[in-house]
Amino acid sequence: ASTSPDSPTIFDKIINKEIPANVVYEDEKVLAFRDINPQAPVHILIIPKIRDGLSRLAKAEERHCEILGLLLYTAKVIAKQEGLEDGFRIVINDGPKGCQSVYHIHVHLLGGRQMEWPAG
Ligand code: 5GP
Repeated sequence: ASTSPDSPTIFDKIINKEIPANVVYEDEKVLAFRDINPQAPVHILIIPKIRDGLSRLAKAEERHCEILGLLLYTAKVIAKQEGLEDGFRIVINDGPKGCQSVYHIHVHLLGGRQMEWPAG
C-alpha cells in the first residue's frame, strides 16, 4: 500500500525532478530543498538521494552512519549559506508519535526566528 513505510514517497519525485522543488543544495549523495509548508523563515529539508531502507531514523543500521553524519554536516553547511550564524534548529521526526509524515528520512533545518524550548 502507498502508506507502507517502504513505498516510494513524494521525495522520490523531487529527487527524480518529476515535481519541482526549491533546491538549495545538491551533491552526489544529498539533496536539500525548502519545505513547502515552512515553520520558520528558513525551513529546509535535507535528504539522502538513496533511501537505502532509511524510511525513518528508527530503521538506522550501522551502515547508515556515514549518510547520517553527512545529513547533519550538510545542515551545518546550509545554515552558514543561509546566514544563520546566530543559531538554528535541527529536527528529525520519527514515526507516528514523532509526527513523521514522509517516510524517507529527512533532517529539518529551521532558522531565522527565535526558537522556543522544549516546544515550538
Ligand atoms: P515530517 O513531518 O515527515 O517530519 O516532514 C515532512 C515535511 O515535508 C513537512 O514539513 C512537509 O511540509 C514537507 N513536504 C511534504 N510534501 C512536500 C513537497 O511536495 N515539497 C516540499 N518542498 N516539501 C514537502
